[in-house]
Amino acid sequence: MKKGTLYIVATPIGNLDDITVRAIKTLQEADLIAAEDTRHTLKLLNHLEISKPMISYHRHNVLIEKLQEGQNIALVSDAGTPGICDPGEEVIKKCIELGINIVPIPGACAMINSLICSGIDTKEFTFLGFLPLNKKLRKKKLEEIEKENKTIIIYEAPHKLETTLKDLQKVLTQDRKVTLAREITKIHEEFIRGNIDEIIQKAENLKGEIVLIIEGNKEVEEENSLNNLTIEEHYKFYEEQGLSKKDIIKKVAKDRNMNKNDVYQQFI
Ligand code: SAM
Repeated sequence: MKKGTLYIVATPIGNLDDITVRAIKTLQEADLIAAEDTRHTLKLLNHLEISKPMISYHRHNVLIEKLQEGQNIALVSDAGTPGICDPGEEVIKKCIELGINIVPIPGACAMINSLICSGIDTKEFTFLGFLPLNKKLRKKKLEEIEKENKTIIIYEAPHKLETTLKDLQKVLTQDRKVTLAREITKIHEEFIRGNIDEIIQKAENLKGEIVLIIEGNKEVEEENSLNNLTIEEHYKFYEEQGLSKKDIIKKVAKDRNMNKNDVYQQFI
């Protein structure tokens, strides 16, 4: 028997009009809609005037059985792109293992829309999802954020925002830009931009859904690119900035994690 297809359908992250024509068609044509929370998805289906049988996608086995029987299923999460920070990820992995055909139906995603409006570099970024709650894992993640040279994207719930911002304050220097994107595509949509201290001041008692975009650590980036130079080029780089020989040696040694005397030996 021919297996069915699992369509991964992106739905709005706020404004109900943010859904593609193809997503609507897929929902209309599917045999069944697998939802993260069927009551939540019912509101969207009513808005689109679609009436379809639904199933909770937490019932993996039933879902897979139906796909094996040849039914086409549209998988939706509560908001945005399924599989990004929601349990849809597990269903998708399981279906791939079983050789079920997966088709993406693209649309809204909170991380991409916050990133493009952040004013922070979009070329390279690291998406961290929600920060871990476990103390040890969280500390490790914060250390990674301190050193990360790419733009960082974090999801956060409003009741944990204050704690997260204070934790970030411990590892971020004042020259790193931060954008707090709130309630994207909804009535109270706003983008708060500044350094971490400014964000903390402006974010008091903020409600709603939040994404944090953090500029990468440029010092690490500079260090990395300097370390790709030869030691002579590295020396010249600081010489051109007008630094004294002593300061240059100190800086080169620090950047390259070398002993000052070893650097000195190369230049006498
Ligand atoms: N699958 C979703 C997506 O495509 O972005 C994300 C699901 S995750 C369970 C929910 C988190 O996404 C929220 O805590 C918030 O960080 C972010 N989020 C979702 N909708 C948002 C919105 N309208 N504005 C800002 N952040 C949003």
